[in-house]
Amino acid sequence: MRDGNKTTLELINGSSEKLSILIGSRPGALYAGLTDREIFEKTEKKVQAVKAFVERHNPDIIFTIAGMTSEAESLGAEVLVRDEGSPLIKQSPLYENPDPSRLVPISLQDSPLCRTLIRSVRILSGLYPDKIVSASVNGPLTVAGQLMGLEQLLIHSVDNPDLVRELLAPVTSRIIELMNAQIDAGARYLHVAEPTGSLLSPSLLSGIGLSYLQELFAEVKVPNHLHMCGDTTAHLEVLRETGAGAVSVDSMVDMKKAAGLFGSSMAICGNIDAAGVLLRGTPEEVALTTRAMLEKMTSVKSYIPASSCGIPGLTPPENIDAFTKTVRTFSI
Ligand SMILES: [Zn+2]
Repeated sequence: MRDGNKTTLELINGSSEKLSILIGSRPGALYAGLTDREIFEKTEKKVQAVKAFVERHNPDIIFTIAGMTSEAESLGAEVLVRDEGSPLIKQSPLYENPDPSRLVPISLQDSPLCRTLIRSVRILSGLYPDKIVSASVNGPLTVAGQLMGLEQLLIHSVDNPDLVRELLAPVTSRIIELMNAQIDAGARYLHVAEPTGSLLSPSLLSGIGLSYLQELFAEVKVPNHLHMCGDTTAHLEVLRETGAGAVSVDSMVDMKKAAGLFGSSMAICGNIDAAGVLLRGTPEEVALTTRAMLEKMTSVKSYIPASSCGIPGLTPPENIDAFTKTVRTFSI
């Protein structure tokens, strides 16, 4: 865990420029004229979309396009790949009966979504050897929610937490396997998306999800962040205990207060509103908002300016450029 913390902070401190993080590369699909089906089904199309994003925006960290269902597919769920939007779970062995022994694990190579994800990381790492390509996985609670159904996960977390823990154990092992496969393929950073975490109360997150997040981050040997969507203000103390190198927070969280809570041992990234100013604002508004955030966080050495969540596919490219340019040219 310590190494993960250290390496993420070293990444920030070791960079000659202020790093920034744009979560995801989704707008690249539009730039390359590709459908969501194509980028989830074909490795070369996914790479083409990410490449279009990278060449337009020159991000510091390159994210492939992962979606939320790869791990679940590799544990026996049937996935619906769509022309528009990320793949969804069509059927899961746990929908009717949440008994974790009903999971049907297949190898990562036999899961089309995992396979294209790993291959895309390998190709992107080869194409951009001087850049940092990120591995992407979903967090244990998020994968459990995909497998069990979100509503069932939330109900069982209260009524039968042991059942949920029983599911989280094999789920976490599978996430670690997918993470390591991407790191072996050349990824030098890790993005863990755990949006479902904030739907649990802080005490349930601590009592049910925390130990699995700790297990995951204990295995990570590269700089990384844990991203949790929504208002996680009340969850920050739990997130501090995960062992993540950084926590990536959404737009509702007060960055300064969160940074104060994390202290100097854990980095924090966020939280320029991806669904707000980045998607709907003008480039001038993005620049103003980003600058205001940088000024507010000047004294926080462990701060990484970042989008608050994944960049929506329809985000105007000028807004993305305004964010990156503001970070790169900022001086007090
Ligand atoms: Zn998010």
